[in-house]
Amino acid sequence: MSADSVIPFGFESLPVRGALIHLSRSWRRMLRDHDYGALIVETLGHAAAATGLIAHSLKFDGSITLQIQSRGALRMLVMQCTSDLKLRGLASVGPAGDVSNFADLIEEGHCAVTVDNGKRPYQGIVDISAESLSASLEHYFARSVQVPSHIALVANEDVAGGILLQQVPGQPIDPDDWNRLHILAETLGDRDFHGDAGIGLIGKLFAEDDIRVYKTRAVSFRCRCSQQKTEDVLKMLGENEARETLAAEGAIEVVCEYCGQRRNFDAVDIERLFVDNVVLGPDSVQ
Ligand SMILES: [Zn+2]
Repeated sequence: MSADSVIPFGFESLPVRGALIHLSRSWRRMLRDHDYGALIVETLGHAAAATGLIAHSLKFDGSITLQIQSRGALRMLVMQCTSDLKLRGLASVGPAGDVSNFADLIEEGHCAVTVDNGKRPYQGIVDISAESLSASLEHYFARSVQVPSHIALVANEDVAGGILLQQVPGQPIDPDDWNRLHILAETLGDRDFHGDAGIGLIGKLFAEDDIRVYKTRAVSFRCRCSQQKTEDVLKMLGENEARETLAAEGAIEVVCEYCGQRRNFDAVDIERLFVDNVVLGPDSVQ
């Protein structure tokens, strides 16, 4: 399996759909300009894998955004993936710095999942269980999407991966079978993504089941920032603030937190940005 892909699969004799995600290059690119602690890396990687898996299941052109906010060391996390599997994300760490367990990381945290179909975005919010992000997302699936789901996630600074199993709506499954698949999915470890993962890994995990594998889909890192959006942010900031920064620094540099792209605005650029803001008096000639 080439890394940075999603492999959808199904069980021939069980009403369960699945998908395996393996992120490598795109994941390392996402970390490139950041210096996160190990637990933040792991949580961000889990979020990347989970968001890719959910985006893969979208049946329309759009995007999904997973946002975590908490009072713990992880102040904020955003992960966004489009339905054509372009992924970006970042985390913001509070003054508590690096901590050693997930519960301290996401103290009083909640997770919002926003699905944007280009028309009316809708959002589901779940409390984050102190156990793990995957447990929290299983609650989300059960409550907001009403599809019983198992999700297993792994991440370190080289790989982020995961597996999503979902029951096919309207087709009951023997609870023992469902539980068995859960236990097998839970055995997923980051060592599984070293070397030959992919179809071989799916076969290895579910060795007793007949699996049908569908077409692999590529995932890539892609930021959606642009010159235009950056200019809009500067305009929102306001003319006074922009001119003050310009006077103090000589130029304004805006760095995208997602991708590290730097955009510079000098006096002429700022002049051009705010020329539309000039309020014309009654005698002005246009
Ligand atoms: Zn960017």
